[in-house]
Amino acid sequence: ATGGSPSTIKPINKGVVHRICAGQVILDLPSAVKELVENSLDAGATSIEVSLKDYGAESFQVIDNGCGIPPHNFKVLALKHHTSKLSDFPDLQSLATFGFRGEALSSLCALGDLTVETRTKNEQIATHLTFDNSGLLIAERNTARQVGTTVTVKKLFSTLPVRSKEFHRNIRKEYGKLITLLNAYALISKGIRLVCTNSALKNAKSVVLKTQGSGSLKDNIITIFGMSTFTCLEPLKVCLSDSCTVEGFISKPGNGSGRNLGDRQYFFVNGRPVDMPKVGKLVNELYRGANSRQYPIAIMNFVIPPRAFDVNVTPDKRKIFLSDEGSILRFLREALEKIYSSNYASYAVNSL
Ligand code: ADP
Ligand code: MG
Repeated sequence: ATGGSPSTIKPINKGVVHRICAGQVILDLPSAVKELVENSLDAGATSIEVSLKDYGAESFQVIDNGCGIPPHNFKVLALKHHTSKLSDFPDLQSLATFGFRGEALSSLCALGDLTVETRTKNEQIATHLTFDNSGLLIAERNTARQVGTTVTVKKLFSTLPVRSKEFHRNIRKEYGKLITLLNAYALISKGIRLVCTNSALKNAKSVVLKTQGSGSLKDNIITIFGMSTFTCLEPLKVCLSDSCTVEGFISKPGNGSGRNLGDRQYFFVNGRPVDMPKVGKLVNELYRGANSRQYPIAIMNFVIPPRAFDVNVTPDKRKIFLSDEGSILRFLREALEKIYSSNYASYAVNSL
């Protein structure tokens, strides 16, 4: 706006910086709900309910039976870079939690209206907390609740006018992506009950996803996709190096039931849902050699020592940097080639 003429460098107002950064951590409805579900998992919850109003456009809420938040944390709960999970840089190399940067609640405050209800086992009564857009605690009152935490976000993106317009225009698409993401957590979580409900305007609440939390990936696949889908899958367990293995299920060569490219393809690193475009490409490419009419289902969990990867690549933590990606892909290619080679394909189809 200054037309190329030199002007003074000034710091940006803190509140504006906060809002700009928050918009990078929370990209859309799925990334917002993901942060809350991961907080519930980090809190040791065995029951998590995601409750949407008008597909999340009006509000969304995550209710858990985790450990709750102790009163001495209330004031700092939604402050930027405040976390109970990581305190020093070396901790990042032995990370066992989903969260570690203390950015989710503070970002959600900057983008919408955040309230929290929580109770630990040491408290007789729960507390209802209200935060302002800068993450400051502005109201606190007693309420009734079991041990655990409920986080509610109303009017997401109301503080970012452009994003807000996009959000409301694309809400059905974002809702679809959210259900896919919740399926990923439901598939990989063992012994966790996960429910998602939606109340569309003027309509009654409807259950859109419900898993009882079985003990194995196999049982979770059967609950979520059904027995007939499960019978089309082949178990996969391959050592990719001395310290890295991949476990899961992929479509049998003659029996791909993915409807579209990328449909029902879920990738995890140590149980964390992540995007792995190169692995997805490899699976699709090799599958095409065995079956050109269909797409493969792939549900793959890479078990990798924490020091061999970095999740701190993008603010939404979906991208992952693998220190040994080249050899992991090479070994995976060999293993999949064996499964999808023509000999094996005819064997697998005949033996059905
Ligand atoms: P991070 O997860 O990176 O620590 P968040 O902003 O997501 O950052 O959460 C901040 C802190 O709030 C967490 O470290 C945790 O102590 C607490 N917290 C958030 N959600 C929950 C929850 N559902 N149950 C218990 N504690 C929670
Ligand atoms: Mg978190």
